[in-house]
Amino acid sequence: MAAVSKTKVLFSNLVRSTNKNIICKRCFSVTRPAQDGKPLIGFIGLGNMGNHMARNLVSKGYPVLVYDVNTAAVEGLKEAGAKAAKNPAEVAANTDRIVTMLPASQHVQEVYTGNNGILSKVVKGTLMIDSSTIDPAVSKDMAKAAEGKGALYMDAPVSGGVNAAKQALLTFMVGGPDSKFPDAQEILQNMGKNVVHCGAVGTGQAAKICNNMLLGISMIGTSETMNLGIKLGLDPKMLAKILNMSSGRCWSSDTYNPCPGVFENVPSSNNYEGGFGTALMTKDLGLANNAAKDTNSAVNLGQQALEIYTKMTQKGYGGKDFSVIFKILQEMSGPEVEKKKKEFFDQ
Ligand code: NAD
Repeated sequence: MAAVSKTKVLFSNLVRSTNKNIICKRCFSVTRPAQDGKPLIGFIGLGNMGNHMARNLVSKGYPVLVYDVNTAAVEGLKEAGAKAAKNPAEVAANTDRIVTMLPASQHVQEVYTGNNGILSKVVKGTLMIDSSTIDPAVSKDMAKAAEGKGALYMDAPVSGGVNAAKQALLTFMVGGPDSKFPDAQEILQNMGKNVVHCGAVGTGQAAKICNNMLLGISMIGTSETMNLGIKLGLDPKMLAKILNMSSGRCWSSDTYNPCPGVFENVPSSNNYEGGFGTALMTKDLGLANNAAKDTNSAVNLGQQALEIYTKMTQKGYGGKDFSVIFKILQEMSGPEVEKKKKEFFDQ
């Protein structure tokens, strides 16, 4: 996609452009403005991940038009230099490049196809990139609906967590037509270090749910290991150091350790706040287990991980970072551990 698109749009004073060639009048049909050659990007969903991703676009000089149902999140982005829209339709009416970062399938369906959704006002030729982790079948549905409006929807879920989102180090797994991948890459590379084309629409989600099934399993394994080592009298930082130079090393041990105090700036050292919610991990494990059923794939630990995270969500840990499993295991360890395990996981 060229830096300055020729698409005609209604540009209603939402974005202040520094480009002197642009005449910006309320409700005039104008050539899409570009700030220092950078096109306007719409961004919807400013949560733990999206808020950092949108900030990275702003800091790289893109004009950004945001929307979230949470007005506090919108205010934060306005302070960082973004403009705000009233709803997804208003975002769509004003730009032909949109990124969405929402919790789950139903939120994506609402934002794209609901009342005042993106597709109610989408401009022909618009590229929409959904970075939420959702059911691949829903991604395919959204792509079909977008096609009906002359627009393109691609899935581009991410791996990396909030610190990677903050530092623009995410990995994007992109599904969509080969010919349009460079257009998506041009935007996504501002928010991540790896942008990988996986294949047709939905394949980004397929890659992502496989990754997160492994992540859910490895976080439980790392938490059991750290808890056992501490019970055996090992210093947690020393144990983590050994794991991370040995064959047990994984992202949950070397980047996002679930034991408080091993690393600074991870959710476990912040009372398990502000990371990847247990409810979201439960959703992803549900997607992976559904996919396993649909494809007759043998999945054992993935199923057990789903049961554990489902129970944690039911017991009130849904909003805590998914590494909180370490704290739960630590609290149930000690006299009557079997009884406590049963009480937590079986009731
Ligand atoms: P989050 O819950 O922190 O943020 C989601 C945002 O979407 C919130 O600000 C919420 O207000 C907004 N939202 C919900 N419904 C909306 C609607 N109808 N219209 C507009 N805004 C709406 O979630 P997150 O942690 O930022 O994760 C977003 C997605 O990324 C999820 O699919 C998650 O599985 C995936 N993901 C998260 C992480 C992580 O570490 N947090 C890592 C990789 C992938």
